[in-house]
Amino acid sequence: MPTLYPLRLEPLFQQYLWGGRRLASLLGKPLGQGDTYAESWEVVDHRDGQSRVLNGPLAGQTLGELARRYPAEMYGAGLSGGEAPDRFPLLLKYLDAQKTLSVQVHPNDAQGAKLDPPDLGKTEAWLVLAAEPGAKIYAGLSAGVDRAAIAAALAEGECERCLHAFEPAVGDCVFIPAGTVHALGEGLVIAEIQQASNTTFRLFDWNRLEKDGKPRPLHVEASLDTIDYQRGPVAPQIPQPLGEGSERLVECDKFIFDRWRLSAGQGGVLSDAGGFRILTVVEGEVTVRSDDGVETLGLGQTLLAPACCSGLTLDAGTGATVLDMRLP
Ligand SMILES: [Zn+2]
Repeated sequence: MPTLYPLRLEPLFQQYLWGGRRLASLLGKPLGQGDTYAESWEVVDHRDGQSRVLNGPLAGQTLGELARRYPAEMYGAGLSGGEAPDRFPLLLKYLDAQKTLSVQVHPNDAQGAKLDPPDLGKTEAWLVLAAEPGAKIYAGLSAGVDRAAIAAALAEGECERCLHAFEPAVGDCVFIPAGTVHALGEGLVIAEIQQASNTTFRLFDWNRLEKDGKPRPLHVEASLDTIDYQRGPVAPQIPQPLGEGSERLVECDKFIFDRWRLSAGQGGVLSDAGGFRILTVVEGEVTVRSDDGVETLGLGQTLLAPACCSGLTLDAGTGATVLDMRLP
């Protein structure tokens, strides 16, 4: 049997009412007919979606099968507690918000474990790739807002006054730990790295109705129980330079999220951190070399390099911005 090598995975497109066509127009995704393409799941091992390998001898196998069959090759020696997770722990997706998403919150691991069926918690981070003028991110509570204030606003059919909002710039990174109330605003396209969870509690849906004239279901009590009321106004992350064209956007107990901004001809050497790397290109094109081969990634394309792949380097050609994600 072949051991693991840098894997290209088939994106899984999700259509929701708030989606659009920009995953094709801005990121080159091969969308089908329709104008509600909301998400492209790039790397996922979850009961709601499974990435399949596109390249090499393992083509057609799922990420979940491979991670469970080859845990040492996928995760390396540095597994926490020495045990492989029962699912691949990170999920990468691109999102096109043509309409503002519902106001929502995600559980943490302890809260997620109590759900039926159980799910991981969902800590996530966004990188803004495109923003229409005036597009907003809602993240965290306005100063001084507590549970009673939210409940009072909801009783009046309102919520926005409780939420911190700002107009992000392209390139901003926003960190949303589990428990942070948030909504992605109309006009934004983002990349999102998150825990491999698909549990969302919807607090408020802007009083909208679906085509059938009914509102989407809300989970107000679950949301109010899940919100971290200490999470006040959230501002974009301040990137920390790491040298050689890379910078750290987020370091938390669930993932490390770095960005490479490589000018034409500039290369980058990925530190041998001992675990897998997820790489995706948000500007330009990059050639990824390792001891196991060469892959050229175009805009919007993703590579999963398992832990067993060593000697990873980036070569930017005419210039590229690459997102680099892994476990802490
Ligand atoms: Zn979210």
